[in-house]
Amino acid sequence: MADFEHVACTVCGCVCDDLRLTVQDGRIVRAEGACPLAEPWLLGQDGCQPAVAEVAGQPAPLPDALAQAAILLRAARSPLIYGLARSSTAGQRAAVALAESTGATIDTNASLCHAPSIRALQEVGEVTCTLGEVKNRADLVVFWGANPVASHPRHLERYSLDARGRHVPAGRSNRFLVVADTQPTATSQRADLFIPIEPNRDFEALATLRCLVRGAPLHPTALGAPLPLLRELAERMQRCRYGIIFFGLGLSMTGAGPHNVEALLQLVTDLNAHTRFCARRLRMQGNVAGADTVLLWQTGFPFSVNLARGYPRYNPGEFSAQDLLERGDVDACLFVGSEGAADFSEAALAHLRRIPVITLDHPTVPSLVPPTIRFTTAVPGVHHTGTAYRMDVVPIPLRAVLPANYPTDEAVLQGIELQLAG
Ligand code: SF4
Repeated sequence: MADFEHVACTVCGCVCDDLRLTVQDGRIVRAEGACPLAEPWLLGQDGCQPAVAEVAGQPAPLPDALAQAAILLRAARSPLIYGLARSSTAGQRAAVALAESTGATIDTNASLCHAPSIRALQEVGEVTCTLGEVKNRADLVVFWGANPVASHPRHLERYSLDARGRHVPAGRSNRFLVVADTQPTATSQRADLFIPIEPNRDFEALATLRCLVRGAPLHPTALGAPLPLLRELAERMQRCRYGIIFFGLGLSMTGAGPHNVEALLQLVTDLNAHTRFCARRLRMQGNVAGADTVLLWQTGFPFSVNLARGYPRYNPGEFSAQDLLERGDVDACLFVGSEGAADFSEAALAHLRRIPVITLDHPTVPSLVPPTIRFTTAVPGVHHTGTAYRMDVVPIPLRAVLPANYPTDEAVLQGIELQLAG
């Protein structure tokens, strides 16, 4: 039996790095500090041992599968590489290198979640911070279109509500929690103030808040939420010492999409005339922030990047995975983690069923599209070391706690590239 301390969890974007795991007979048998999302995932690791590679549904030696994958990609005129949110930094970097050498389009899970937010911050900028600053300073916390009690179960405990910080030593009693959403949630039950937003009227509610903060006239028929509650929130926002708005897909993927997020980011900019205020996205998968970051380092763009001309081109919509698939503009697809296929439209999935698909998936993850070639890869933070970027883009080191029976994403991607070069 062996104990491992300070282990980071990559199930969600919080990347909590204070877990204590007990390993016995090659399995994790206890996971102290793991939330209800993380515990079954950790205890289930190595519960099944699929073949390291399969070609057309049959187990195949790894070198043969690598060679077959290279043949498929060499024959493709318009390949797509998609996913990356469950990979480590090294695997993400190898994926970009393979995209470059094959002239592929590379896109990440962000394409179907926070892409509107990224487009918004490219337009209007972002006043932002680390989760450490939130923990130590925030006395007003707003969740907009997000329900972290369900999606990021330890966020409130570690960073945003219960945590005791340098300038908020009493933790919960030093903070005021506001939830703005279209319906009550588990998070709103813990809030001091709940603002019910009319469905698809987030933009109007944020515009009203901006008017209240700037002293501009209101549009009486387009308030987006009850005016007395918006007035109270605007006053609290201006009076607080340090405020933070965490926003989720309930803001970025509904109604006016990127314009919702632009309005929120501009509100935060306005508030900095009165006090210190920041905004942060609640990222979903454990290293989706790393996928943005690595693509930015390597190509200058965070997602939906086309490398067919030998230099990066960025154009969400034109080069977004789902749009490419729906238009039939992809003739081979390589998933680095195929769980994101669950978010694709039926038209995109129908095209995926017509073309060769290569998947790199962890042992316990079933492929969501029937792959021509499947590689089973080791899990970062469980089977191998590496780095994941927390939702605030702070890199967190990952530990290895179980023996690695499978290659890393990086090794498989580099193996394919070597075959292509040979
Ligand atoms: S909150 Fe997220 S990162 Fe933290 S233990 Fe739970 S699933 Fe893992």
